[in-house]
Amino acid sequence: MTTEHEEIAVVGAGLAGCLTACFLARRGYRVALYERRPDPRTGRIERGRSINLALSERGLDALRRIGLDEQVMADALPMRGRMIHPVAGEPQFQSYSASGDRAINSISRGALNNALLDAASALPGVRIAFDHRLVGLDPATGEMTFETPQGKVTETAAVVLGADGAGSAVRGQLVGHGLLTESLDFLDYGYKELTIPPLGGDFALDPDALHIWPRGTSMMIALPNPDRSFTCTLFWPTHGTAAFASLGSPAAIERHFAEHYPDLIPLAPNLVDDYQHNPVGVLGTVRSTPWQVDGRVGLLGDAAHAIVPFYGQGANCAFEDVVELDRCLDECADDWAAALPLFQQRRQGNAEAIARMALTNFVEMRDKVASPLFQARKRVEHA
Ligand code: FAD
Repeated sequence: MTTEHEEIAVVGAGLAGCLTACFLARRGYRVALYERRPDPRTGRIERGRSINLALSERGLDALRRIGLDEQVMADALPMRGRMIHPVAGEPQFQSYSASGDRAINSISRGALNNALLDAASALPGVRIAFDHRLVGLDPATGEMTFETPQGKVTETAAVVLGADGAGSAVRGQLVGHGLLTESLDFLDYGYKELTIPPLGGDFALDPDALHIWPRGTSMMIALPNPDRSFTCTLFWPTHGTAAFASLGSPAAIERHFAEHYPDLIPLAPNLVDDYQHNPVGVLGTVRSTPWQVDGRVGLLGDAAHAIVPFYGQGANCAFEDVVELDRCLDECADDWAAALPLFQQRRQGNAEAIARMALTNFVEMRDKVASPLFQARKRVEHA
C-alpha cells in the first residue's frame, strides 16, 4: 500500500493523464505528471491535428466530479443530430433523440487538454514536467528514464501510470519485459483534416449538427468550432487507386471533391492547400492484457485500449477509466495492488465492447446513414 506521502507518476499529460492527476491529488497523493511535448498552452497546434471531439455525458460526468464541466461546456457546441449530405440534393437532418433535446458536444481537444492542464497545475501536490519523454521503465522498482532537452534523467515513483496514448511507451516497456501482450489492428483507412472557415462572419453550415458526407468507401464529417469554423475530417483508404495519394495535383483534388463532395467546394476556399499539406493520420484498435503489473505499473485511456474514432467515445471512455480507478481506490482503501486488478476487471469488457461498436459504426456512418431503409427506420423510431 502506498501512503499519501508517496509519489505517483503519471506518464502523458493528455486528456486521461491530466484528469488522473486531478483525481489523485484530490485523494491526497503527490503526483508527478511527465509529458514528452513542451507545454501546449504556450505553443502552436500541429497543422492538421486540431481534432475536435464529441464529448458526451460519459465524459462530462468525469469533468463534473472535479468541477470543470461548466468551464468546458462554455466553449462547447451542442450537436443535436446528424446532418447527412448526399451528393445531390438537400442535406437531411436526423435527430439523436425523439424529443430533440439530447446532444453531444463539439469541443476542441486542445482546449480541453489545456483546461485540464490548468486544473492539474492549480492543485497542490501536482508537479508537471514537460519535455520528458519516457524511454525506459523498470517495472520492479518504478524507475523511469526520460529523454529531456538536458539529456537523460531518471526518476522513481511508488506507482507508475501509463496515460501516454495509443503508442504508449509504458505499454511498450511492459511488452519488452515480457509482462504484457498487445495487439495493434490498424485500419487500412487514414484521416485528413480540412477546414470550412466562417462565411460572412457566421457558420457556413448548421452548427447544431454533426455533418456527415457518407460516400461508401470514403466518408467526411464536420464538427463546429466556437470561432464559427468547422473542422472536417476526411476518412479514406491509405492505399490503392481510390485513396489519399491518388489525388496528386490541385486539379485532381478539385475534380474529386467537385464529383463527390460538391457542396463543400464553395465552403472550403483552402481545400487544395489543406489537402496537400495536412498529414494523413492512422487509425487503429489497441488491445493489451494485463493492464497492470503487481499493482506498481498500470495503463489507462488509449494506452490500454485505443479505439477507432467512429463512435466518438475514445476520450469519453478514457475519462470513465479515471472515474472507475478512483472508485476502485476508494473500495480498496488505496491499496494499489488490489485496486489496479479490480480496475482492469471492471473496465476491460467495456473497452472491448466500445472498440467493436466503433468499428461497426464506421460502416453505418460511411454507408448506411444515407440509405433510404436506414432513414425510414429512424423515422419509425422517432414516431
Ligand atoms: P492522448 O490524448 O493521446 O494523450 C497521451 C499523451 O501522452 C500525449 O500528451 C502525448 O504527448 C503523451 N506521451 C506519449 N508518449 C509519451 C512518452 N513516451 N513520454 C511522455 N509522454 C508521452 N474521442 C471522443 O471521445 N470523441 C470524439 O469525437 C473523438 N474523435 C476523435 C477523432 C479523431 C480523428 C481521433 C484520432 C481521435 C478521436 N477521439 C475521440 C479519441 C480521443 O482523441 C482519444 O481517445 C483521447 O485523446 C485519449 O486520451 P489519452 O489521454 O488516453 O491519450
